[in-house]
Amino acid sequence: MITLESQTKKTLSSFYSTTADALRLNWQILQCTGLMYLMLGAVALDWFPSWSLPVGIPILLVRWILLVHDLFHLRRTREVNWLIQLLPILTTPLALGYREYQEIHSGHHQLMATPSDPEYYQICGSPLKGFLNALTSPEQTFFRWIAHRGMNQDLLRESVIRLCWFGAIASLSGQAFLWYWIPLRLAYGISYFIFFYCLHRRGKEYGVYSLDLPKWLQFSLQLLFGREALLEICYHDVHHAHPQVAPQYLPIVGK
Ligand SMILES: [Zn+2]
Ligand SMILES: [Zn+2]
Repeated sequence: MITLESQTKKTLSSFYSTTADALRLNWQILQCTGLMYLMLGAVALDWFPSWSLPVGIPILLVRWILLVHDLFHLRRTREVNWLIQLLPILTTPLALGYREYQEIHSGHHQLMATPSDPEYYQICGSPLKGFLNALTSPEQTFFRWIAHRGMNQDLLRESVIRLCWFGAIASLSGQAFLWYWIPLRLAYGISYFIFFYCLHRRGKEYGVYSLDLPKWLQFSLQLLFGREALLEICYHDVHHAHPQVAPQYLPIVGK
C-alpha cells in the first residue's frame, strides 16, 4: 500500500546525491588539489607572480573544503582513492585524514551544537573565541583527536606521510611557501568560523540557522565559489535536516 509517508520519502529521495555526484566530487577534489599545487609550483619557479597565490588559493581552498564535505556524506574512506584519503591539502604539519575528518563531521551532525559535538569548541563562547578557535582548528583537531581517540597504526603511518609531504612542499617551494601557506591558513580559519560559529549561533542561542545574504553578496560568493557552495552556506539548516540531499536541491527541500 502506498502511504502518504512513503510517497513523501520517495519524493525526498529523488533529491539525494547520486553515484554520479560522488564520481564528480572525486574528480573535482583531485582537480582542485592539482591546481593549488600547480599554482604553488608556478610561483616557486617564478612563472607566476607571488600575489597570484593570495588571490587564487583562498578560492580553491573554500571550493576544496566544500567538495570534501559533500563527499563525506556520500562515500566511506575505503570507497575513495588513496590520495583523497590522505587529504593532501595540508594546513599544518600534523594533520588528520579523510577517515578522521569524516567521523568528526558525522559527530557534528549527530550532536550538533551540544557540548558533545566535536566542533563545539568552535561554536561556544564569544565571536572572538570562536574565531581564534577556528584559526587554530587544524592543530586543535589533531591533538583533540589523539587525546580522545588515541593513535593507531593507520593514523600514525598516514600522519608521517603528511608530515613528510608538508616538509617537502615547504622546503622545495622556498619563499613561495609563505605566499601560499599564510592565505591558506587565513582562508581556512575564516571559512571554519563561518561554517561553525556563524551558522550555529545567534547571540546566546545555539542551533542551526539559514543565512539570508544580500543579493550582491550572494552573487559574489556564487561567482567565486560556485552555486552549490553558496546554497550549502545559506541553507545549512536544511543540510542538517537532510544531509543526503544534493546541495542544488536544498532550497526546494527547505520550502
Ligand atoms: Zn553544521
Ligand atoms: Zn554535513
